[in-house]
Amino acid sequence: MAGNLCNASPAADPVPAMIAANAVARVNGPSGERDCPVQDIPVAPGHNSLAKGEFITSILLPACPVNASDAYQRFIPHTEMDIAVVSAGVSLALDKDRICTEAQVAIGAVVATALKVDDAAACLIGTKLDMDPLDVRRKNAARKGTKAQPRNWAPLMTTCTPSSPIPVRWVTTISPMAAA
Ligand SMILES: Cc1cc2nc3c(=O)[nH]c(=O)nc-3n(C[C@H](O)[C@H](O)[C@H](O)COP(=O)(O)OP(=O)(O)OC[C@H]3O[C@@H](n4cnc5c(N)ncnc54)[C@H](O)[C@@H]3O)c2cc1C
Repeated sequence: MAGNLCNASPAADPVPAMIAANAVARVNGPSGERDCPVQDIPVAPGHNSLAKGEFITSILLPACPVNASDAYQRFIPHTEMDIAVVSAGVSLALDKDRICTEAQVAIGAVVATALKVDDAAACLIGTKLDMDPLDVRRKNAARKGTKAQPRNWAPLMTTCTPSSPIPVRWVTTISPMAAA
């Protein structure tokens, strides 16, 4: 995971999932040890924020709350050997009535570095992840797309819901743990 993260490919698969899970990279180097949010490691395609002599020793994943889970999906145009053309990592927590209380969404492959999309997460909070309200809310949010929060994250909301009509090509989950 550290090599994949440090390569800083916009299409790296683990990175949006790690960002959505609030993963932190533990970095050691000549100046000692520091913790850096995973989203701050890639800074541009092929470039990372590590200083000379620094290396990642751990990827820290906070424990999930109760009734929470993470998932990652990517869209690839042809075969399993393709890299993602768009991807999303999502972390959700539900209450006892199955209403979403916490959400983190990160997207990959569509901008220079994987990006946390708070507007997308806000669309999910307060819903039961059912399609109709989500559809309306994601369209409203998509209309507000900016360079930093691009419009093309919106179709990902469809792929990330349980009733998605889009086939799931590749899914992984991250188990809660202190460090991996
Ligand atoms: C044909 C092919 C297809 C691929 N398809 C995909 C794909 O679909 N999705 C995907 O996500 N990836 C894909 N990859 C990328 C691949 O899976 C690796 O993640 C990537 O090549 C990095 O390799 P590595 O993990 O062995 O790291 P390395 O090659 O060992 O390292 C990569 C870079 O990170 C640095 N580095 C490594 N470890 C650390 C560390 N602990 N601290 C600081 N710097 C470090 C190295 O110095 C190097 O610059 C593909 C690669 C190939 C060759």
